[in-house]
Amino acid sequence: MPRKRFTAKDRARIFAANNGCCHLCGQKIDGVREGWEVEHVIAWELTRDDSDANLRPAHASCHKIKTHGEDRPAINKAKRREARHTGAKRPAGRIRSAGFAPSPKPKTPKQALPPRMMFAVPGALWQPIGGRDGD
Ligand SMILES: [Zn+2]
Repeated sequence: MPRKRFTAKDRARIFAANNGCCHLCGQKIDGVREGWEVEHVIAWELTRDDSDANLRPAHASCHKIKTHGEDRPAINKAKRREARHTGAKRPAGRIRSAGFAPSPKPKTPKQALPPRMMFAVPGALWQPIGGRDGD
């Protein structure tokens, strides 16, 4: 949906509905000497609301301050939030800690176990490992 362009009729209606006052600084707008613009109370980028309830006249300078100081950061934040929500932006990953300190005790290698008989050989006597001796 493209952004609406306001006609002279729209501007006149919005100007009259607000008694020709800038809704940001509250002062009267001199339509001949001062530039003024139709301003969205809640940024259009956030709501896509072009209804008269969301439109007010504002000095061009007041409008510029609001747009760059309030609206733009809010719009950028909403876009970042949406990108995370849809998965378009992936999370950066977990914060890694330093981990555990190395053990002060030196590691001793384990002693190898004695070989085991894995299968019975015909004719061979079976002897249990570490069996009785001197019987
Ligand atoms: Zn103003």
